Amino acid sequence: MTPVRTTGRSGPVADFPAAYQGPALAVDRAFYTGLAEGPRELVERFEVPIRSGRAWTVPRGHLCRLVTVDGPQVGDLNLWNAADPRERLWASRTRQLQRAHVSTFDRLWSNLPFLRPLVTITADTLEGYGPDEHGGRVHDLLGTRCDPYVNRMLTGEDFDFHCHSNLVRAILPYGLTEFDVHDVLNVFQCTGLNNEDRYFMKACPARQGDHFEFFAELDLLCALSTCPGGDLSVPLWGPDARDPLDTCHPIGVEVYRPAPELLDGWRPPERAAYRNLHGLRPPREGNAR
Ligand SMILES: [Zn+2]
Repeated sequence: MTPVRTTGRSGPVADFPAAYQGPALAVDRAFYTGLAEGPRELVERFEVPIRSGRAWTVPRGHLCRLVTVDGPQVGDLNLWNAADPRERLWASRTRQLQRAHVSTFDRLWSNLPFLRPLVTITADTLEGYGPDEHGGRVHDLLGTRCDPYVNRMLTGEDFDFHCHSNLVRAILPYGLTEFDVHDVLNVFQCTGLNNEDRYFMKACPARQGDHFEFFAELDLLCALSTCPGGDLSVPLWGPDARDPLDTCHPIGVEVYRPAPELLDGWRPPERAAYRNLHGLRPPREGNAR
């Protein structure tokens, strides 16, 4: 029987070891701490305005910081290998390999057949948050982006500025389409599972100046939507729902080049070593005759 303890705060919590273990999941914390604390040069800074999306590139070996520049705001982040956008964030596997809410030293992994860290998180001013009194934690991989299809289904109304649509508009200049938008990392978003195992969202605990920073392990295309739900302090659906426009804030994006010596010994990760045969037999020499 699974050992279970009751916290009295967030329901039963399984005191059970994580399923995914192994040296491939080890992170050189000293290396990433050095990047977080060492000298760096700002190469780009801009803001994603409220209820909009932007896409940008981050060269491998650079740092990217997302900042709640003006107050609490949830952001929906997508990541691609800039050289091959078929390789992109794999949210569900990252939940298993890392955790359902990520913070410093966690990695965000790419999909099959690539399976490598796209980024390693180097700083998070909210890393001390959670679990709160409801079991809420921040930087959520449990849920995904808000979208106009579910919104229409639940409300009967059309709205064109959900995170899904903001990401679609953001990536069009890079030659990508709606089909490239994928399950997101919800940065600065506080979520959890209630005692019926259902997803909940709480007000964003970020304050002006909070930030979430990651190191690009590959050349990346990033896209971020400033959620039209703002800080999520107003329910998006249900009897208490209203337009939360007054809770919306921009999110700042900063890209930094770390001092070159901080990257000594670092190499971009290789794609997964599996030989991709899946039990299929390669053609033998002679069959072509
Ligand atoms: Zn959203």
